[in-house]
Amino acid sequence: MSGPGRRPQTTIFTTMSALALRHGAVNLGQGFPDESGPAYVIEAAAAAMRDGHNQYPPVAGIPELRQAIAAHQRHWYGLAPDPDEGVTVTAGATEALTAAILAFVGPGDEVIALEPSYDSYKAAVAMAGGTLVPVRLEAPAGGAGHWRLDKDRLAAAVTERTKVLLVNSPHNPTGTVLDRGELAAIAAVAIAHDLIAVTDEVYEHLVFDGREHVPLATLPGMWDRTVTVGSAGKTFSVTGWKIGWATGPAELVARVKDVKQWLSFASGTPFQYGIAAALASGDGFYRDYAAGYQERRDLMVAGLKGIGFDVHEPEGTYFVTASAAPFGYADGLAFCLELPERCGVVAIPNQVFYLDQAPRPEVRFAFCKRLDVIEEGLRRLG
Ligand code: PMP
Ligand code: GLN
Repeated sequence: MSGPGRRPQTTIFTTMSALALRHGAVNLGQGFPDESGPAYVIEAAAAAMRDGHNQYPPVAGIPELRQAIAAHQRHWYGLAPDPDEGVTVTAGATEALTAAILAFVGPGDEVIALEPSYDSYKAAVAMAGGTLVPVRLEAPAGGAGHWRLDKDRLAAAVTERTKVLLVNSPHNPTGTVLDRGELAAIAAVAIAHDLIAVTDEVYEHLVFDGREHVPLATLPGMWDRTVTVGSAGKTFSVTGWKIGWATGPAELVARVKDVKQWLSFASGTPFQYGIAAALASGDGFYRDYAAGYQERRDLMVAGLKGIGFDVHEPEGTYFVTASAAPFGYADGLAFCLELPERCGVVAIPNQVFYLDQAPRPEVRFAFCKRLDVIEEGLRRLG
Protein backbone atom coordinates (compact mmCIF):
# COMPACT_ATOMS: atom_id res chain seq x y z
CA MET A 1 0.00 0.00 0.00
CA SER A 2 1.06 3.59 -0.43
CA GLY A 3 1.22 6.08 2.42
CA PRO A 4 3.73 8.31 4.14
CA GLY A 5 7.14 6.65 3.92
CA ARG A 6 5.81 3.76 1.84
CA ARG A 7 6.57 2.97 -1.75
CA PRO A 8 3.35 2.72 -3.80
CA GLN A 9 2.75 -0.84 -4.98
CA THR A 10 0.71 -1.93 -7.95
CA THR A 11 -1.39 -5.10 -7.72
CA ILE A 12 -0.11 -8.09 -9.66
CA PHE A 13 -3.30 -8.04 -11.75
CA THR A 14 -2.66 -4.51 -13.01
CA THR A 15 1.00 -5.29 -13.70
CA MET A 16 0.30 -8.49 -15.62
CA SER A 17 -2.66 -7.10 -17.61
CA ALA A 18 -0.43 -4.17 -18.67
CA LEU A 19 2.21 -6.70 -19.84
CA ALA A 20 -0.50 -8.57 -21.77
CA LEU A 21 -1.45 -5.38 -23.61
CA ARG A 22 2.16 -4.42 -24.31
CA HIS A 23 3.00 -7.81 -25.83
CA GLY A 24 -0.36 -8.58 -27.43
CA ALA A 25 -0.38 -11.64 -25.17
CA VAL A 26 -3.28 -13.97 -24.41
CA ASN A 27 -4.29 -12.81 -20.93
CA LEU A 28 -4.73 -15.88 -18.74
CA GLY A 29 -3.72 -13.74 -15.74
CA GLN A 30 -6.31 -11.37 -14.28
CA GLY A 31 -9.57 -13.23 -13.67
CA PHE A 32 -12.19 -11.57 -15.83
CA PRO A 33 -14.36 -13.24 -18.47
CA ASP A 34 -13.90 -12.21 -22.10
CA GLU A 35 -17.66 -12.33 -22.68
CA SER A 36 -20.38 -10.21 -21.07
CA GLY A 37 -23.11 -11.68 -18.92
CA PRO A 38 -26.62 -12.58 -20.15
CA ALA A 39 -28.41 -10.05 -22.40
CA TYR A 40 -31.40 -9.81 -20.02
CA VAL A 41 -29.07 -8.72 -17.23
CA ILE A 42 -27.47 -6.01 -19.37
CA GLU A 43 -30.90 -4.90 -20.53
CA ALA A 44 -32.21 -4.66 -16.96
CA ALA A 45 -29.36 -2.29 -16.03
CA ALA A 46 -29.83 -0.25 -19.22
CA ALA A 47 -33.59 -0.05 -18.61
CA ALA A 48 -32.95 1.17 -15.06
CA MET A 49 -30.78 3.97 -16.47
CA ARG A 50 -33.44 4.91 -19.03
CA ASP A 51 -36.10 4.82 -16.31
CA GLY A 52 -34.20 7.40 -14.31
CA HIS A 53 -32.61 5.20 -11.61
CA ASN A 54 -29.43 7.22 -11.76
CA GLN A 55 -29.08 8.77 -8.30
CA TYR A 56 -27.74 7.42 -5.01
CA PRO A 57 -29.35 4.23 -3.78
CA PRO A 58 -29.75 3.53 -0.03
CA VAL A 59 -26.44 2.65 1.69
CA ALA A 60 -27.48 -1.01 2.08
CA GLY A 61 -28.65 -1.27 -1.54
CA ILE A 62 -32.01 -1.05 -3.32
CA PRO A 63 -34.73 -3.19 -1.66
CA GLU A 64 -35.24 -5.22 -4.89
CA LEU A 65 -31.63 -6.37 -4.82
CA ARG A 66 -31.53 -7.03 -1.07
CA GLN A 67 -34.63 -9.18 -1.43
CA ALA A 68 -33.12 -11.02 -4.40
CA ILE A 69 -29.89 -11.71 -2.47
CA ALA A 70 -31.84 -12.96 0.57
CA ALA A 71 -33.94 -15.19 -1.72
CA HIS A 72 -30.76 -16.54 -3.35
CA GLN A 73 -29.27 -17.49 0.04
CA ARG A 74 -32.53 -19.18 1.02
CA HIS A 75 -32.99 -21.03 -2.27
CA TRP A 76 -29.46 -22.44 -2.55
CA TYR A 77 -28.47 -22.89 1.09
CA GLY A 78 -31.54 -22.62 3.32
CA LEU A 79 -30.04 -19.51 4.95
CA ALA A 80 -32.44 -16.74 5.91
CA PRO A 81 -30.79 -13.32 6.13
CA ASP A 82 -33.28 -10.52 6.77
CA PRO A 83 -33.49 -8.55 3.47
CA ASP A 84 -33.55 -5.26 5.41
CA GLU A 85 -31.12 -5.87 8.25
CA GLY A 86 -29.06 -8.86 7.14
CA VAL A 87 -27.99 -7.85 3.62
CA THR A 88 -25.69 -5.00 2.56
CA VAL A 89 -24.80 -4.41 -1.06
CA THR A 90 -21.17 -3.35 -1.60
CA ALA A 91 -18.79 -2.19 -4.31
CA GLY A 92 -17.83 -5.74 -5.22
CA ALA A 93 -16.78 -8.43 -2.79
CA THR A 94 -13.60 -6.43 -2.25
CA GLU A 95 -15.45 -3.69 -0.39
CA ALA A 96 -17.52 -6.19 1.61
CA LEU A 97 -14.33 -7.96 2.74
CA THR A 98 -12.50 -4.73 3.54
CA ALA A 99 -15.50 -3.26 5.40
CA ALA A 100 -15.90 -6.47 7.41
CA ILE A 101 -12.22 -6.49 8.37
CA LEU A 102 -12.28 -2.80 9.29
CA ALA A 103 -15.42 -3.48 11.34
CA PHE A 104 -14.11 -6.42 13.34
CA VAL A 105 -10.34 -5.95 13.48
CA GLY A 106 -8.41 -3.31 15.42
CA PRO A 107 -4.74 -2.53 15.97
CA GLY A 108 -2.88 -5.57 17.29
CA ASP A 109 -5.64 -8.03 16.38
CA GLU A 110 -4.91 -11.11 14.31
CA VAL A 111 -6.81 -12.47 11.32
CA ILE A 112 -6.26 -16.08 10.33
CA ALA A 113 -6.51 -16.64 6.57
CA LEU A 114 -5.90 -19.62 4.32
CA GLU A 115 -2.67 -19.25 2.39
CA PRO A 116 -2.24 -18.73 -0.52
CA SER A 117 -4.79 -15.95 -0.10
CA TYR A 118 -6.40 -13.38 -2.36
CA ASP A 119 -4.23 -10.26 -2.41
CA SER A 120 -6.75 -7.77 -1.00
CA TYR A 121 -6.94 -9.62 2.36
CA LYS A 122 -3.45 -8.64 3.44
CA ALA A 123 -4.03 -5.00 2.46
CA ALA A 124 -7.37 -4.84 4.27
CA VAL A 125 -5.92 -6.33 7.47
CA ALA A 126 -3.02 -3.85 7.27
CA MET A 127 -5.48 -0.94 6.87
CA ALA A 128 -7.19 -2.10 10.07
CA GLY A 129 -3.83 -2.16 11.88
CA GLY A 130 -4.07 -5.92 12.34
CA THR A 131 -1.83 -8.83 11.43
CA LEU A 132 -2.63 -11.54 8.92
CA VAL A 133 -1.68 -15.00 10.21
CA PRO A 134 -1.51 -17.46 7.31
CA VAL A 135 -2.48 -21.11 7.51
CA ARG A 136 -1.08 -22.89 4.51
CA LEU A 137 -3.02 -25.17 2.25
CA GLU A 138 -0.70 -27.92 1.03
CA ALA A 139 -0.80 -30.22 -1.97
CA PRO A 140 1.36 -33.22 -2.77
CA ALA A 141 4.25 -32.30 -5.10
CA GLY A 142 4.10 -33.28 -8.75
CA GLY A 143 0.54 -32.17 -9.38
CA ALA A 144 -1.20 -35.15 -7.78
CA GLY A 145 -3.99 -34.28 -5.34
CA HIS A 146 -5.62 -31.08 -4.22
CA TRP A 147 -4.54 -28.30 -1.89
CA ARG A 148 -6.00 -29.16 1.51
CA LEU A 149 -6.35 -27.58 4.93
CA ASP A 150 -4.50 -29.20 7.83
CA LYS A 151 -6.76 -29.04 10.87
CA ASP A 152 -3.94 -29.09 13.42
CA ARG A 153 -2.13 -26.28 11.67
CA LEU A 154 -5.33 -24.21 11.80
CA ALA A 155 -5.85 -24.88 15.51
CA ALA A 156 -2.21 -23.99 16.23
CA ALA A 157 -2.52 -20.60 14.54
CA VAL A 158 -5.01 -19.26 17.11
CA THR A 159 -3.72 -16.90 19.82
CA GLU A 160 -5.51 -14.70 22.32
CA ARG A 161 -5.25 -11.88 19.77
CA THR A 162 -7.14 -13.77 17.04
CA LYS A 163 -10.39 -11.99 16.13
CA VAL A 164 -11.41 -13.21 12.69
CA LEU A 165 -11.16 -16.35 10.59
CA LEU A 166 -11.08 -15.31 6.94
CA VAL A 167 -12.12 -18.21 4.77
CA ASN A 168 -12.32 -18.50 0.98
CA SER A 169 -14.05 -21.40 -0.73
CA PRO A 170 -14.06 -22.13 -3.62
CA HIS A 171 -10.51 -20.95 -3.23
CA ASN A 172 -8.52 -18.55 -5.38
CA PRO A 173 -5.87 -19.41 -6.61
CA THR A 174 -5.78 -23.18 -5.88
CA GLY A 175 -9.30 -24.09 -6.99
CA THR A 176 -9.87 -26.08 -3.78
CA VAL A 177 -13.47 -26.44 -2.61
CA LEU A 178 -13.35 -26.97 1.16
CA ASP A 179 -15.10 -30.21 2.08
CA ARG A 180 -17.42 -30.72 5.03
CA GLY A 181 -14.58 -32.04 7.20
CA GLU A 182 -12.45 -28.95 6.60
CA LEU A 183 -15.41 -26.65 7.20
CA ALA A 184 -16.28 -28.49 10.42
CA ALA A 185 -12.69 -27.98 11.61
CA ILE A 186 -12.95 -24.25 10.89
CA ALA A 187 -16.29 -24.06 12.68
CA ALA A 188 -14.91 -25.91 15.70
CA VAL A 189 -12.04 -23.41 16.02
CA ALA A 190 -14.36 -20.42 15.57
CA ILE A 191 -16.75 -21.68 18.24
CA ALA A 192 -14.06 -22.79 20.71
CA HIS A 193 -12.37 -19.37 20.59
CA ASP A 194 -15.48 -17.24 20.02
CA LEU A 195 -14.22 -15.85 16.70
CA ILE A 196 -16.04 -14.10 13.88
CA ALA A 197 -15.83 -15.81 10.49
CA VAL A 198 -15.77 -13.85 7.26
CA THR A 199 -16.21 -16.11 4.27
CA ASP A 200 -15.45 -15.14 0.70
CA GLU A 201 -17.75 -17.20 -1.51
CA VAL A 202 -17.50 -15.28 -4.78
CA TYR A 203 -17.03 -18.55 -6.74
CA GLU A 204 -19.98 -20.27 -5.01
CA HIS A 205 -21.56 -21.36 -8.31
CA LEU A 206 -18.31 -22.56 -9.86
CA VAL A 207 -17.86 -26.08 -8.49
CA PHE A 208 -17.13 -29.07 -10.70
CA ASP A 209 -17.64 -32.82 -10.95
CA GLY A 210 -20.87 -32.82 -8.94
CA ARG A 211 -19.26 -31.27 -5.84
CA GLU A 212 -21.32 -29.02 -3.58
CA HIS A 213 -20.44 -25.60 -2.24
CA VAL A 214 -21.23 -25.51 1.47
CA PRO A 215 -21.38 -22.05 3.05
CA LEU A 216 -19.64 -21.98 6.42
CA ALA A 217 -22.71 -20.17 7.82
CA THR A 218 -24.80 -23.35 7.36
CA LEU A 219 -22.75 -25.33 9.89
CA PRO A 220 -24.18 -25.71 13.41
CA GLY A 221 -23.31 -22.75 15.62
CA MET A 222 -21.93 -20.66 12.75
CA TRP A 223 -24.81 -18.46 11.55
CA ASP A 224 -24.56 -16.02 14.47
CA ARG A 225 -20.83 -15.47 14.00
CA THR A 226 -20.45 -15.49 10.20
CA VAL A 227 -20.50 -12.77 7.56
CA THR A 228 -20.87 -14.34 4.12
CA VAL A 229 -19.51 -12.37 1.17
CA GLY A 230 -20.69 -12.84 -2.41
CA SER A 231 -20.29 -11.07 -5.74
CA ALA A 232 -22.24 -10.78 -8.96
CA GLY A 233 -19.05 -10.23 -10.96
CA LYS A 234 -18.10 -13.88 -11.36
CA THR A 235 -21.51 -15.54 -11.55
CA PHE A 236 -22.95 -13.13 -14.11
CA SER A 237 -19.71 -12.25 -15.94
CA VAL A 238 -19.91 -8.55 -15.09
CA THR A 239 -16.75 -8.02 -13.04
CA GLY A 240 -16.68 -4.33 -14.05
CA TRP A 241 -20.03 -3.62 -12.41
CA LYS A 242 -18.55 -4.12 -8.94
CA ILE A 243 -21.69 -5.31 -7.19
CA GLY A 244 -21.08 -7.57 -4.19
CA TRP A 245 -22.74 -8.16 -0.85
CA ALA A 246 -22.38 -9.16 2.77
CA THR A 247 -25.09 -11.28 4.38
CA GLY A 248 -25.54 -12.65 7.88
CA PRO A 249 -27.10 -11.86 11.24
CA ALA A 250 -28.35 -8.28 11.60
CA GLU A 251 -25.82 -7.30 14.31
CA LEU A 252 -22.79 -8.25 12.22
CA VAL A 253 -24.10 -6.91 8.93
CA ALA A 254 -24.95 -3.58 10.61
CA ARG A 255 -21.29 -3.21 11.51
CA VAL A 256 -20.21 -3.92 7.94
CA LYS A 257 -22.75 -1.37 6.70
CA ASP A 258 -21.47 1.22 9.19
CA VAL A 259 -18.00 0.99 7.64
CA LYS A 260 -19.26 0.72 4.06
CA GLN A 261 -21.05 4.07 4.36
CA TRP A 262 -17.68 5.78 4.91
CA LEU A 263 -15.87 3.86 2.17
CA SER A 264 -18.16 4.34 -0.82
CA PHE A 265 -21.51 5.30 0.79
CA ALA A 266 -23.37 3.32 -1.89
CA SER A 267 -22.81 1.38 -5.10
CA GLY A 268 -24.02 1.88 -8.73
CA THR A 269 -27.83 2.10 -8.74
CA PRO A 270 -28.58 0.83 -12.29
CA PHE A 271 -26.21 -2.11 -11.85
CA GLN A 272 -28.12 -3.07 -8.72
CA TYR A 273 -31.30 -3.34 -10.83
CA GLY A 274 -29.37 -5.44 -13.33
CA ILE A 275 -28.20 -7.86 -10.66
CA ALA A 276 -31.65 -8.08 -9.09
CA ALA A 277 -32.82 -9.36 -12.51
CA ALA A 278 -29.78 -11.66 -12.77
CA LEU A 279 -30.51 -13.30 -9.43
CA ALA A 280 -34.00 -14.14 -10.68
CA SER A 281 -32.37 -16.52 -13.23
CA GLY A 282 -33.65 -20.08 -13.04
CA ASP A 283 -31.53 -22.98 -11.75
CA GLY A 284 -30.75 -23.88 -15.37
CA PHE A 285 -28.65 -20.74 -15.75
CA TYR A 286 -26.41 -21.75 -12.85
CA ARG A 287 -26.15 -25.36 -14.08
CA ASP A 288 -25.16 -24.26 -17.59
CA TYR A 289 -22.71 -21.77 -16.15
CA ALA A 290 -20.86 -24.42 -14.12
CA ALA A 291 -21.01 -26.94 -16.99
CA GLY A 292 -19.56 -24.39 -19.43
CA TYR A 293 -16.67 -23.72 -17.09
CA GLN A 294 -16.07 -27.40 -16.45
CA GLU A 295 -15.56 -27.86 -20.19
CA ARG A 296 -13.03 -25.02 -20.19
CA ARG A 297 -11.34 -26.43 -17.10
CA ASP A 298 -10.97 -29.81 -18.77
CA LEU A 299 -9.50 -28.22 -21.90
CA MET A 300 -7.05 -26.15 -19.86
CA VAL A 301 -5.99 -28.98 -17.55
CA ALA A 302 -5.47 -31.46 -20.39
CA GLY A 303 -3.61 -28.84 -22.43
CA LEU A 304 -1.26 -27.82 -19.61
CA LYS A 305 -0.55 -31.46 -18.75
CA GLY A 306 0.16 -32.19 -22.40
CA ILE A 307 2.71 -29.37 -22.47
CA GLY A 308 4.45 -30.81 -19.40
CA PHE A 309 3.20 -28.75 -16.46
CA ASP A 310 2.42 -30.43 -13.14
CA VAL A 311 -1.25 -29.52 -12.82
CA HIS A 312 -3.44 -29.45 -9.71
CA GLU A 313 -6.88 -29.97 -11.24
CA PRO A 314 -9.23 -27.38 -9.69
CA GLU A 315 -12.40 -28.51 -7.92
CA GLY A 316 -13.94 -25.06 -8.41
CA THR A 317 -13.26 -21.40 -9.47
CA TYR A 318 -12.00 -20.41 -12.90
CA PHE A 319 -8.32 -20.79 -12.03
CA VAL A 320 -5.88 -23.65 -12.33
CA THR A 321 -2.60 -23.82 -10.43
CA ALA A 322 0.24 -25.49 -12.32
CA SER A 323 3.88 -25.92 -11.43
CA ALA A 324 6.59 -24.68 -13.78
CA ALA A 325 9.15 -26.88 -11.95
CA PRO A 326 9.25 -29.43 -14.83
CA PHE A 327 10.70 -26.64 -17.00
CA GLY A 328 13.44 -25.91 -14.45
CA TYR A 329 11.75 -22.91 -12.83
CA ALA A 330 11.78 -22.59 -9.03
CA ASP A 331 10.60 -18.98 -9.26
CA GLY A 332 7.12 -18.56 -10.74
CA LEU A 333 7.48 -14.77 -10.80
CA ALA A 334 10.53 -15.00 -13.08
CA PHE A 335 8.60 -17.48 -15.24
CA CYS A 336 5.55 -15.17 -15.48
CA LEU A 337 7.64 -12.10 -16.27
CA GLU A 338 9.33 -13.95 -19.17
CA LEU A 339 6.19 -15.59 -20.50
CA PRO A 340 4.52 -12.63 -22.29
CA GLU A 341 7.56 -11.85 -24.43
CA ARG A 342 8.65 -15.46 -24.99
CA CYS A 343 5.26 -17.08 -25.58
CA GLY A 344 2.67 -14.30 -25.80
CA VAL A 345 0.81 -15.59 -22.73
CA VAL A 346 0.20 -14.00 -19.32
CA ALA A 347 -0.21 -15.93 -16.05
CA ILE A 348 -0.05 -15.01 -12.35
CA PRO A 349 2.71 -16.31 -10.05
CA ASN A 350 1.13 -17.91 -6.97
CA GLN A 351 3.87 -16.53 -4.71
CA VAL A 352 2.15 -13.12 -4.70
CA PHE A 353 -0.62 -14.79 -2.68
CA TYR A 354 1.84 -15.71 0.12
CA LEU A 355 2.88 -13.45 2.98
CA ASP A 356 6.59 -14.22 2.58
CA GLN A 357 6.48 -13.75 -1.23
CA ALA A 358 9.25 -16.40 -1.41
CA PRO A 359 9.88 -17.91 -4.85
CA ARG A 360 7.57 -20.81 -5.64
CA PRO A 361 7.21 -22.73 -8.90
CA GLU A 362 3.39 -22.57 -9.02
CA VAL A 363 1.61 -20.25 -11.40
CA ARG A 364 -2.09 -19.57 -11.95
CA PHE A 365 -3.85 -19.69 -15.31
CA ALA A 366 -7.37 -18.27 -15.63
CA PHE A 367 -9.78 -20.18 -17.87
CA CYS A 368 -12.62 -17.63 -17.86
CA LYS A 369 -11.99 -17.17 -21.59
CA ARG A 370 -13.62 -18.39 -24.79
CA LEU A 371 -12.59 -21.93 -25.78
CA ASP A 372 -10.74 -20.62 -28.85
CA VAL A 373 -8.80 -18.17 -26.65
CA ILE A 374 -7.80 -20.97 -24.27
CA GLU A 375 -6.76 -23.09 -27.26
CA GLU A 376 -4.67 -20.24 -28.64
CA GLY A 377 -3.05 -19.71 -25.21
CA LEU A 378 -2.20 -23.41 -25.00
CA ARG A 379 -0.86 -23.43 -28.57
CA ARG A 380 1.47 -20.54 -27.73
CA LEU A 381 2.59 -22.14 -24.46
CA GLY A 382 3.30 -25.39 -26.28
N1 PMP B 1 -12.35 -12.60 -3.57
C1 PMP B 1 -11.79 -13.43 -4.44
C2 PMP B 1 -11.33 -14.76 -3.96
C3 PMP B 1 -11.62 -13.05 -5.77
O1 PMP B 1 -11.03 -13.87 -6.61
C4 PMP B 1 -12.06 -11.77 -6.18
C5 PMP B 1 -11.89 -11.26 -7.57
N2 PMP B 1 -11.57 -12.12 -8.52
C6 PMP B 1 -12.65 -10.95 -5.23
C7 PMP B 1 -12.78 -11.38 -3.93
C8 PMP B 1 -13.13 -9.57 -5.58
O2 PMP B 1 -14.40 -9.59 -6.09
P1 PMP B 1 -15.08 -8.26 -6.67
O3 PMP B 1 -14.57 -8.06 -8.04
O4 PMP B 1 -16.54 -8.53 -6.60
O5 PMP B 1 -14.67 -7.14 -5.76
N1 GLN C 1 -9.97 -11.35 -8.49
C1 GLN C 1 -9.36 -11.31 -9.80
C2 GLN C 1 -8.28 -12.37 -9.88
O1 GLN C 1 -7.99 -13.06 -8.94
C3 GLN C 1 -8.73 -9.98 -10.09
C4 GLN C 1 -9.35 -8.79 -9.45
C5 GLN C 1 -8.45 -7.59 -9.58
O2 GLN C 1 -7.92 -7.32 -10.63
N2 GLN C 1 -8.23 -6.93 -8.49
O3 GLN C 1 -7.72 -12.50 -10.93
